[in-house]
Amino acid sequence: MSDIKFIDDVEIEGKTILLRADFNVSMNPNYLTIADDARIRQVIPTINYLLKRNNKLILASHLGRPKGERVPKFSLQIVCNQLKEYLPEYNIILIDDFLTEPESTFKNQKPDDIFVYENTRFYPGEKKNDPEFAKKMAVHADIFVNDAFGVSHRADASVVGVAHILPSYGGLLLKKETEMLSMVLKKPEKPFVAVIGGAKIETKIKVLDRMMELADSLIIGGALANTFLYAQGIDVGASLFEKDKTDLAQKLLFKAAQNNTTVILPSDCVVGNAQELEHGSMVCKVSEVPKDKQILDIGPETTARIGSIIAKAKTIVWNGPVGYFENIHYRQGTDFMYYAITNNDDAVSIVGGGDTLAAISKKEYLDKLTHISTGGGAMLEYIEKGTLPGIEALKK
Ligand code: ADP
Ligand code: MG
Repeated sequence: MSDIKFIDDVEIEGKTILLRADFNVSMNPNYLTIADDARIRQVIPTINYLLKRNNKLILASHLGRPKGERVPKFSLQIVCNQLKEYLPEYNIILIDDFLTEPESTFKNQKPDDIFVYENTRFYPGEKKNDPEFAKKMAVHADIFVNDAFGVSHRADASVVGVAHILPSYGGLLLKKETEMLSMVLKKPEKPFVAVIGGAKIETKIKVLDRMMELADSLIIGGALANTFLYAQGIDVGASLFEKDKTDLAQKLLFKAAQNNTTVILPSDCVVGNAQELEHGSMVCKVSEVPKDKQILDIGPETTARIGSIIAKAKTIVWNGPVGYFENIHYRQGTDFMYYAITNNDDAVSIVGGGDTLAAISKKEYLDKLTHISTGGGAMLEYIEKGTLPGIEALKK
């Protein structure tokens, strides 16, 4: 990664900068308010750094999945309002359609004007990485800065396309994300413990595979673990699991054995029915799950075992809730994981994943984590490959 330059490696002054940020914040169900603005907060240092050096800014980002159409609930207006909170001295101006906006608007941009292009995914050219579309996005800027780590695994026009047109640099958040992850991938202090949870093997297969090589211990939780248990001949009752991934799970367990990676699967669990809010949960061994019940969280014996492994770790990477945390009856395992990690003062800890962050974002001690990644898929792909398309595009 030696040949990518970050904004603090060079002198950028008095330019107009197209800054790709990841403002894809999690929204409350009504889409009227932001649930967690961590992704906005984490780009502010880059914005301030560039503004301080007399640069003018044009910000670009996507929000949600409007699929190439104008979907009002995914307008970046709400992001503009939030940006104003952090940048009260600036005019945050939403450019409703940069394709038709008169040239004069850009010519007359004042130093205290920050332009924000409306949702890049309102345009079909974005996901197609259409070169003509990228050209139009880049035309008003001298320089491109990518600070959108969370979307750098996507070869979109605003991530990869524009980087091939303008002189391009990485932002401070992109730098922090890649430095943190590189550190644990290249020379992790041992023991290195990975915790991988969540629902689908499909989305985690590559990171599991990579962790078999990197980690000393791999803790598998969530519905993901059910498939591994099933692969070991355990009847998981009515639990969510992937029958067609049994072979895959067996192969991964074999690889772990070859690499001397200890795989920790739940030995007990909390079972119940995901839909029942009031009651019905109970603890049992994974070998004794009733036919009509689902495994929805790890049990107390499992948490105790995991606790001692986490306590001794020097490097911890966590992605994916270990239970159906959306229901309060099944979030103890995930909460426990969080407190175990934040209680280990000796370890470098990196946590990422959309749902994982949703599960912890309102908690105390967040500052005890070494790094909270703004990338879910991007973090997983970076762990797997050591680079991302959006990062490669910055290489000259
Ligand atoms: P992240 O977004 O952090 O990468 P994932 O998207 O992989 O995490 O997985 C999160 C989802 O997995 C959550 O919706 C959670 O409820 C679900 N989940 C975790 N454990 C279970 C389980 N035992 N049964 C059903 N769903 C589960
Ligand atoms: Mg998720």
